[in-house]
Formats: sequence, structure tokens, C-alpha cells
Amino acid sequence: MLEGHRLDAEECLAVLRTPREARWALVDAAGRVRRHHFGTGVKVNYLVNLKSGLCPEDCFYCSQRLNSEAGILRYSWLSAEEAAEQARAGVCGGASRVCLVSSGRGPSNRDVDRVADIVRAVREEQPDVEVCACLGLLKDGQAERLAEAGVDAYNHNINTAESHHEAICTTHTYDDRVETVGRAQAAGLSACSGLIVGLGESDEQLVEAVLALRELGSESIPVNFLMPFDGTPLAGTWEMTPERALTILCMVRLACPDREVRMAGGREMHLRSLQPIALEAVNSLFLGDYLTSEGHAARTDLQMIADAGLHVLGTDGTLRDPAELLPELENPSDESHQDDRSPRLRRRGAGTELAPNA
Ligand code: SF4
Repeated sequence: MLEGHRLDAEECLAVLRTPREARWALVDAAGRVRRHHFGTGVKVNYLVNLKSGLCPEDCFYCSQRLNSEAGILRYSWLSAEEAAEQARAGVCGGASRVCLVSSGRGPSNRDVDRVADIVRAVREEQPDVEVCACLGLLKDGQAERLAEAGVDAYNHNINTAESHHEAICTTHTYDDRVETVGRAQAAGLSACSGLIVGLGESDEQLVEAVLALRELGSESIPVNFLMPFDGTPLAGTWEMTPERALTILCMVRLACPDREVRMAGGREMHLRSLQPIALEAVNSLFLGDYLTSEGHAARTDLQMIADAGLHVLGTDGTLRDPAELLPELENPSDESHQDDRSPRLRRRGAGTELAPNA
């Protein structure tokens, strides 16, 4: 692998089907490839949902879809000031890339102008941060206008294999998605395109999607795990185990050795206690919350990176000690306030009136 061998579909399938007794050897192999290309750096990305819900498309997995009954926040465009404030919090937490996202099939030209204003406001405060836009399907000229406004990258996930796409969405096609990735690349934007796994795809379809991303030239590959929101067609779908999620990330790393591979939405519920081990395979994550769901406290994510002996990649490519970022967090929320170096005194179970912790 380190000498440039590219896994073919059969080899990817074999990786996916690694027997349990070889699991740690697989993690070790993925870790060696990851360290060869990325050392100990972890790229931290931060999502800002500029416009939430009320989408006319019907993506079956999405809590923002047409007629979604998920109890998500629904709001129209943030102002440039509000977006910049959100972005600031992410940068304080170590994010070197801010991902500006809006729900919808795709932006109107007026929306692109609005996003351009937002990018200017973010850049005024954070001149060095990378800006990725994720606004849906792009029309002629829109990628170029985003590039002129200072956008560095464009996210548009293919989500699943071409052969499985009709099973997850009827209002646009796989080709529509691929076309938008191409439009972004043609405008000089770095392509960020990835997956949602656990959508009922077969192993072969998962491999098909990963190799398609490699061929598409996606430089950054977010791997999301289906979060089965109530009120969506895929509510109750649960195909993942932590071991399976970890194996998938190892397969993506080995198939795409030098690409940014990100453990993305759903990592908390699907990888669970294997998240720090997954950092052996991936070199990127989203900090904190997602578009419509909450992640771990940002402090917990940074602590995980520190505990794994890894570093946060700075905007200038330097490696930062995650522990140094903890005091900079603007909103050290909920459980993150706890000082983990102080034993928490037991106040439940034996000797108390409260139920034991078991
Ligand atoms: S994934 Fe995007 S296009 Fe599809 S329903 Fe959700 S917000 Fe709309």
C-alpha cells in the first residue's frame, strides 16, 4: 500500500469482510497508511447550518426532507453576522475548515450572492480558515461565483452507489450529484464528496461508491453513518455495529490512502466507544454538532484527539496540542465542564437512598 498499490473492488470487499480475529491487524494496517500520509494530524471541520429544514427534495435519510416530521430546528437564512459568529466558535475549537451548509435542491443566484456575503463576513474575522460551501446542486456559473467569493471547497456527497441511488431518493439522480462535483472541480474548488453508510446498500455497493469517489477525485471524503431520524422513511433502520463502522473506515482509508477521510455524522451512535480507535484510520472529523443533531461537546472531541496522542491540524499546516485549545472554547457546554482529573465522589448506591449504578 505504501508503495502505491491501489486496491481493486475485490480487495476492498475482502477488507470489508475481515474476520473478527484479524480486526486489530486491519486497524494497524490502516493506521500505518494514515500516519504515512498525514502523520499525527487531525483536520477539524465545523458545520454551520445556514438554512435548516423545509427542503423540497425527498432524500429518504434526511431530517430536512420534504414532509419530514422530525422535530428539527427549521429556519431560513442566517445573517452574515450570525453565520460569522457560529464560525468563530468552531475556529476557537480548532477548526481549520468551516463548512457553510444550506438545505434545498440547490441555490438560486440570489442565494449564491447571500452566501458570498457570508463568506466575506467569515473571512473578515478568520482570514486563514478554509471555507467549504454545501448548497446542493449547482447550476452554470454558480461554482465560479463561489470561488470568486473566496470559497475554497464544495461539498456534495454522492452518498451511495449509483446502483443504489434510486432506493434513497427520487427527486434527483446520481448523475445530478456527480455533475455538481464536476462543476465545483472545473471552477477550481476542492471537491469534498462522501458517503452515508447503512442505507441498505450491499457490501458490493459500498465498495462501488468508495471506488467511484476515488475516481471522481474527491479530495475530502466524509463517511456518515445513517442517523435514522423519526419522521423520515428510514426511521428505525439500524444496520451498523461499532465493529462494522470501524471496518468501513479502514476500508475507505486503504482504498483512498492519501485522501482526507472524515468520520462524520452518526459516529457517536454507531462507533460508540471505538471512536478513538477510528482515529487510527481517519484523519478528519466534525467538531461538536451536526446540521440537525447534536454531537459530543466540542471539549470531549478535543480530549479524544489528545488522548489518542494526535494533534489538531492548524490552518497553516502546523500541529496543535488539542489540550491548548480547550480553554479557548467559547461555549464549554454540559458535561465538558467536569474536571476529569478530580475523582467524582460517589453519591449513589450502597449507603445512600439512590439506585446503584448498574
Ligand atoms: S439531503 Fe439535501 S437535498 Fe436531500 S432532502 Fe436533505 S437538505 Fe434536501
